[in-house]
Amino acid sequence: MEFEIPHAEAPATIELEREQHLRLQWADGRITTFALETLRRRCPCAQCRGLRDQGKVAYPGPHSPQPLSAVDAELVGNWGLLIRWNDGHETGIFSWSVLSSWADDPDGI
Ligand SMILES: [Zn+2]
Repeated sequence: MEFEIPHAEAPATIELEREQHLRLQWADGRITTFALETLRRRCPCAQCRGLRDQGKVAYPGPHSPQPLSAVDAELVGNWGLLIRWNDGHETGIFSWSVLSSWADDPDGI
């Protein structure tokens, strides 16, 4: 029996420019560049999702440091990347499948 689980392979290369962007090269050779601010605004954690669900913005807040930068990042198993931001936020894990779907839909970003 086979299961069809939405899944994206981990990128072949992951390049984080801490003050600019995250660039991923996927297994099929495609390269996608995400501006950090885009990722921070679309942070997938429960807290940010909750804010967006209420029609509020997850980022920037009134006390958000400018410019935004990534302090650190960490691979989470084989399925995503956790980014620690300079505004102290560090609960968002960007899964490869979410990033891959955003990459396929640049207008949605
Ligand atoms: Zn968040």
